[in-house]
This record gives sequence, C-alpha cells and structure tokens, in this order.
Amino acid sequence: MSEESRSSFQNPVAGFGVTFKAMFKKRLTEQYPEQQKVTAPRFHGRHQLNRHPDGLEKCVGCELCAWACPADAIYVEGADNTEEERYSPGERYGRVYQINYARCILCGLCIEACPTRALTMTNEFELADSSRENLIYTKEQLLAGLEDGMVDTPHAIHPGTDEQDYYRGLVTEAAPGTVRQRAVSAEERPKDEEVDA
Ligand code: SF4
Ligand code: SF4
Repeated sequence: MSEESRSSFQNPVAGFGVTFKAMFKKRLTEQYPEQQKVTAPRFHGRHQLNRHPDGLEKCVGCELCAWACPADAIYVEGADNTEEERYSPGERYGRVYQINYARCILCGLCIEACPTRALTMTNEFELADSSRENLIYTKEQLLAGLEDGMVDTPHAIHPGTDEQDYYRGLVTEAAPGTVRQRAVSAEERPKDEEVDA
C-alpha cells in the first residue's frame, strides 16, 4: 500500500478515535434553565438600591455611580427631602434612578463609587429581554424590598437621631408609630393614589 493511500485510510479512523474517546468523558452540558447553576457569592448580577434598617433609602442622589460608569448606563436625578416627604435621612435623595441593561457590562465600577453603599449587586443574572424599554430598570424595580422593622418611604427620620447616626448603625428599625407619609410630588405619587383637586 502506498504512503498516500495508507494516510487516506488512517485519517478518518483517527478522527473516529477522537469521537470515541469523547463519548466516555464527563458531560459538560448544563440543563439550563431547568437546572440552574449556583453563582459564585460575589457574582456581579442585577443591581439593588438598599435601604436603612428603618426603610429609608440609602441613595443620596449624588450621581457618583453614573459618573463612574464606563458604559453610560446609569441615569440619576437627585432631589431635596422635606419633613413632609422624606426618602432618606439626609438632605438629598435619588428621585429618579435608572439602569439601562442594554448598556451595562456588569463591571461593578458603580458600586465601588457609591459613598453610602446604597448601590450593590445581586446574584440575579436572568436579565435578557428583546425590548429596550424592559431593559431600562427604574428605581421602583431596583429598590430593595421591605424587611421586618422597615416602613416604606416616604417617612420621617427616627426621632432623636441625625443622618450620621444611621451610618453609625444606631438606627436598627423604624420607631414605633412610624407611618408612611403621603407623596406630594407628582413623580413619587403612586399611579393608583387618588389626588385631591
Ligand atoms: S456595572 Fe459597570 S456598566 Fe453596569 S452600570 Fe455599573 S459601572 Fe455601569
Ligand atoms: S447609588 Fe450611590 S453613588 Fe449612585 S446616586 Fe445613589 S448614593 Fe450616589
């Protein structure tokens, strides 16, 4: 048998050998989404806007996260708190907060820039959507849920404390009798809330 005809016979056999060996290797296929893999604890997933232990918001509307973002994915508008309508313990709060997940590369630079730890990232990674509108998450979607001892914003600061006390960890839950204030600014008012003429 010539050298040329021997190699034309051996090459396909060698190719099947690779296939045969692969048949006994451990399968790497993941049965997603039926079987979800647990992410690493510090995986960078969807963002979350955190609250203080009494429910007030940690975001002060400073926009540092937006300036740090290399993808220009964050939009923030800050506003002043008032005693009648308070969202955070200090002077300012984030009135409008949006993250565009069509732009975000989940790099985490924004959470490093945040001075109040208002912005962190969760392990949630199922963010795909075919609609640009759905990929722009609003403050309402990003705001953390209420835990025990919290009252939803707006509401008054814990009596006898100031903004610094919140960062010192002296406020651990809403004061007894804390009630949600009525949102008077049009942007904050829930759509289903009745408005007096
Ligand atoms: S994770 Fe990165 S890309 Fe996404 S919003 Fe934050 S800074 Fe921007
Ligand atoms: S999330 Fe943090 S950095 Fe961004 S506006 Fe709020 S307080 Fe500032």
